[in-house]
Amino acid sequence: MAELNRDWHKERAALQIQGKAFINGEYVPAVSGKTFPCISPINGEVLVEVASCDVADVNVAVLHARQSFESGIWSRMAPSARKKVMIRFADLIQANAVELALLETLDVGKPIRDSLNYDVINAADSIRWCGEAIDKVYGEVAATAESEIGLVTREPIGVVAIVVPWNFPLLMACWKLGPALAAGNSIILKPSEKSPLTAIRVAQLALEAGIPAGVFNVVPGFGHTVGQAMGRHMDIDTIAFTGSTRVAKQLLVYSGESNMKRVWMEAGGKSPNIVFADAPDLKAAAEGAAAGIAYNQGEVCSAGSRLLVQRSIFDEFMPLLVEAMNEWKPGDPLDPETNFGAMVDRGQLETVLNYIKLGEEEGARLVSGGRQALQNTGGLFVEPTIFSGVNNAMKIAQEEIFGPVLSVIVFDEVDEAIRIANDSLYGLAAAIWTSNLSKAHRVARALKSGSVWVNQYDMGDMTAPFGGYKQSGNGRDKSLHAFHKYSELKATWIKI
Ligand code: NAD
Repeated sequence: MAELNRDWHKERAALQIQGKAFINGEYVPAVSGKTFPCISPINGEVLVEVASCDVADVNVAVLHARQSFESGIWSRMAPSARKKVMIRFADLIQANAVELALLETLDVGKPIRDSLNYDVINAADSIRWCGEAIDKVYGEVAATAESEIGLVTREPIGVVAIVVPWNFPLLMACWKLGPALAAGNSIILKPSEKSPLTAIRVAQLALEAGIPAGVFNVVPGFGHTVGQAMGRHMDIDTIAFTGSTRVAKQLLVYSGESNMKRVWMEAGGKSPNIVFADAPDLKAAAEGAAAGIAYNQGEVCSAGSRLLVQRSIFDEFMPLLVEAMNEWKPGDPLDPETNFGAMVDRGQLETVLNYIKLGEEEGARLVSGGRQALQNTGGLFVEPTIFSGVNNAMKIAQEEIFGPVLSVIVFDEVDEAIRIANDSLYGLAAAIWTSNLSKAHRVARALKSGSVWVNQYDMGDMTAPFGGYKQSGNGRDKSLHAFHKYSELKATWIKI
């Protein structure tokens, strides 16, 4: 594991940053020659000019992806051979962890300790896990009459577009690249315009690992240009998306208006975190609640942004919560000690500040935080913020803020907590804190969300699927279930 304790400012001074698109195994400028500046939220510096791709670039990338797919160079390679390449790819991500972590932190403002010890490690793990799995996934023989043999097999789909957000740029990409590449597809990845750097870099590592030219392409640019061009393309078979519910709905329209490509969506959340009076350890629950909204500056799809606290423990719990939240302090993201970094850009900072203002206007009580921070650095920082006295009908309880703003809602009865928790258009994740096993199971069953955590917040690894109910999306990232998104199911009937 790469060492966290190093002079990251010195590493930054030595860093070369690539901003071009990666198509057919080469770095290329956008066909139009246009670029856009990639600005660090840490101090406002322009890190690099990035290729601003558009329809023409997507067309070229699709052409190469299609050619590579039909050639069979990757799609028909034996799974055991693809596995070896995937594992080499994972090893190279790991070997370049310092550079990738630095790029991620400079690009999106997250603390370097998280980029290094969470994002990059888990990105490598996703690729490795899927690579290791691919020669262990068997087809089926159907229970036919004796006169027939029925084979049920999975095949790669073809050209897969991957569109990802900026909050965990490399990790979200790898949750999809892992199964999509391992299954034998050819890929065109569009990183967010706010965080293109690690995707651009990692494409070269994939080539170095042995993924053939044309199989993995990266086309940076904006949603309304590159994203839309992918969504409407007639020769892309599947689009795997992580991002907002608003854009997910647009992708469904594009698909319906083009070639009915499969659309897999991992979208927004407004996850409830329920603390019952019989929680085994209120201090641990308070620490979990604070981390559940402060980690990654609250820019987490599964952030526990609605904290439901049983009335009988409210007075005891709130000071513990404030104390736990005080442990999250905005600081220099390149300092290994910092646990709370910058917001990704000015727009996101303003969104968060506007929601804080709205919360006060809606009548919620500001308990802690609420202000911009570290303005003298030129960076985009905001304090972690707690509101109490929140009613679930308020906008700060219904809308995804995607920042460090916690809404505390009080309830009396178990069924009331379930009703409030489910009263959301989202259904990504939820947590329950209780020492009563029956209650934990009953509530977990009743919650309409893709993940439920008991006596912890935000647990997960590659062994279990992650994704949402309702308008939080469809399909699942991670685990063997993720392979379904990137393969077609075929039934072959053989007459004996
Ligand atoms: P976003 O929807 O604005 O953008 C996501 C991606 O879609 C970006 O690459 C963007 O350029 C692209 N895009 C934008 N408009 C497009 C269009 N018209 N056509 C095609 N592509 C388009 O989301 P964001 O602000 O980058 O990320 C935050 C959102 O992501 C939050 O809602 C968060 O909950 C969600 N998210 C979900 C998960 C999950 O696993 N469910 C994980 C991380 C983030």
